[in-house]
Amino acid sequence: MLRAFFPHKPELKSPREIGLMREAGKLVAEALRLCRSMAKPGVKTIEIDQAVEALFASRGALPLFKGYPGRVPFPAVTCISINEQVVHGIPGQRVIREGDLLKIDTACKLNGWCADAAITVMVGQVSPEKRRLVEVGELVLKTAMIEMARRKWWSEVAGHMQRVAESAGFSVVTQYVGHGIGRVMHENPQVPNFVNRELRKHDFKLEEGLVLAVEPMVNMGRGDTDVLRDHWTVVTRDGLPSVHVEHTLAVTREGIYVLTADEETLIPRS
Ligand code: MG
Repeated sequence: MLRAFFPHKPELKSPREIGLMREAGKLVAEALRLCRSMAKPGVKTIEIDQAVEALFASRGALPLFKGYPGRVPFPAVTCISINEQVVHGIPGQRVIREGDLLKIDTACKLNGWCADAAITVMVGQVSPEKRRLVEVGELVLKTAMIEMARRKWWSEVAGHMQRVAESAGFSVVTQYVGHGIGRVMHENPQVPNFVNRELRKHDFKLEEGLVLAVEPMVNMGRGDTDVLRDHWTVVTRDGLPSVHVEHTLAVTREGIYVLTADEETLIPRS
């Protein structure tokens, strides 16, 4: 989940705090594994949401999306966005179908620390175009991790992310961005997946202790989006599919630590 504006400087985390965030990250990863296993034709999106809510409750974790302020408070623990829906889809009675692209995003707070991640799931056999879109979306996130381990400024990373998406013939969504994360879900800085004048003005250094939720949204067609009348669901204006993937990433002395990975994952400094 994303928000538009953060007024203060990033707060850097100690190795101990990053270790605590990893515990929250492991739980988010477990929740997303559960979502992936449930994302089958015939299942209603609300069923997946309820399973994640039960998992978080059983571990004493606070779901961070439910009640999130907006024109109407967000009503669920996950965002589930299908096909042309980009992000912030509301789980409900919709039945998952063969060929759907499901973007599932969730976040929790465990022992005072937050983690946020999203996956795109291909349900059964999807079209080759959709499959390529998913592969490119995942490559954009992987590119971000690798470049973070070797660059000094976020704008350099964002430039590479944008190039990977655009050279494949796709578009990066520019209305929504990633974010710093820590004791609260949305912290400074804003983390765009593209470079523009605004980022050049507010560029930030990839310092040790920085923790970011990096979440590229890549559209098959144009990058423009609209919000549905439910006040939440973001859709592509041209109705073509979109992908969204996200990890919570910590900049450490050793490299980039993927806090929401299934297994311990560190991309060494290079
Ligand atoms: Mg996020």
